[in-house]
Amino acid sequence: MEQRDFVIVGGGIMGAMMALRLAESASGSILLVEKSYPGAGSTGKSGAILRQHYSHKVTIGMARESLHWYCGFEDQYGLDISFNRPGMAFICKETDRENLERNVQLQQSLGVDTTVIDSQALRELEPAGSFADEECAAWEPEAGNVNPVQTVHAVLDCAIRAGADVRIGVRVTGFLRDGDRIQGIELDDGNCVAAGMVIVAAGPWAGKLLEEAGVPLPLQTLRPEQAYFEPPAGAREKRLIYGDLTNGLYWKPELAGWTRVGLLDMNDDAVVDDPDHYDEGVSGEFISKCRERLSRRLPHYCMSPSWGGVAALYTVTPDSHPLIGPVPGLEGIWVVSGFSGHGFKMAPAVGRGVAAAIGNDQAGHFEANFFAPDRFTRKAPIEVSYGYGILG
Ligand SMILES: Cc1cc2nc3c(=O)[nH]c(=O)nc-3n(C[C@H](O)[C@H](O)[C@H](O)COP(=O)(O)OP(=O)(O)OC[C@H]3O[C@@H](n4cnc5c(N)ncnc54)[C@H](O)[C@@H]3O)c2cc1C
Repeated sequence: MEQRDFVIVGGGIMGAMMALRLAESASGSILLVEKSYPGAGSTGKSGAILRQHYSHKVTIGMARESLHWYCGFEDQYGLDISFNRPGMAFICKETDRENLERNVQLQQSLGVDTTVIDSQALRELEPAGSFADEECAAWEPEAGNVNPVQTVHAVLDCAIRAGADVRIGVRVTGFLRDGDRIQGIELDDGNCVAAGMVIVAAGPWAGKLLEEAGVPLPLQTLRPEQAYFEPPAGAREKRLIYGDLTNGLYWKPELAGWTRVGLLDMNDDAVVDDPDHYDEGVSGEFISKCRERLSRRLPHYCMSPSWGGVAALYTVTPDSHPLIGPVPGLEGIWVVSGFSGHGFKMAPAVGRGVAAAIGNDQAGHFEANFFAPDRFTRKAPIEVSYGYGILG
């Protein structure tokens, strides 16, 4: 039987990044298996916003490490991922100011270039914008984004160059096991691969795969919608990324030229039982809602044509943070899933952290116990100060 030290299930940004870091750190032989195509899950439709605005030192450190890695990717590896740095503002009401200031101070203490700005400074950043006098924002000039599809392909290419094997179009259907020890994977082409360690990075499919192995984990799949708008004349050139806590939405310049808008509150998103079959379209009602909310801030968008939208998948956990670590009750298997709508920006630090925990890489800002999958049964969820899950 074919044999590998590490088998990774899933070719999204997490699987790709772990394959790269394990291969680069010469931790052993690696096989990544992807059932569809790279980025077929959450990754391909990600906003891929890279910001450091979090409310916990672990996640701020990981976001910071990852932002620098993405920023240096092209120089280091010679592949383009369309890294772009427009900067990001988080707008909130005066009543949230104390909380925002505390988070910004924590970020500054960890080296993040960020400040709290008032409505006057917001108007200077966005002359066509509408901001109430009492509003304020956290401004992060280093924040940016990448093209998620280009990035996952580039990272996989680098992983292959570093020695990892990647098999596309083959589905992992189950696990080889001896009692509680996982010893490899079964594939839908009839083959099996023995593995020293299996890492399940199957995004929205991870919960079901592990449930079938007898381990139910608190992973739920939601269907967030996004709408795209043509920027009004004169507004295309200088567009920033925004998180608007007052109106519950975010928007960002898409690299294709449109403006992408999504809602922050995951309570608005439908639950998806079967990630292989869900409606990828969005309703006219959703597009109107996004246009109306965006126009409260940027009134010139009130007559912008929409280019429709897309529905995607978030894999969420009860505390909106991922499960990263050994699968409870089994040996020889890790889960890396449940990024709750904000995983893309963390992926380089996750890849390095996992490769340090189970291979030879050097530890970065990732703390192995922080995301332990058994934290809910221990009644020790991660506590953060934002109500909107995707803000962390
Ligand atoms: C609309 C949207 C916007 C987002 N915006 C941002 C953002 O701005 N910033 C940010 O940081 N994060 C963002 N995220 C979150 C981020 O994109 C995800 O956290 C991240 O892409 C998750 O990557 P993943 O590799 O864990 O999962 P996925 O990308 O879902 O990858 C899982 C892969 O596993 C494969 N697979 C599944 N089952 C099997 C099997 N049995 N055998 C083989 N292969 C299998 C799938 O085909 C898939 O390719 C957003 C997400 C969405 C949906």
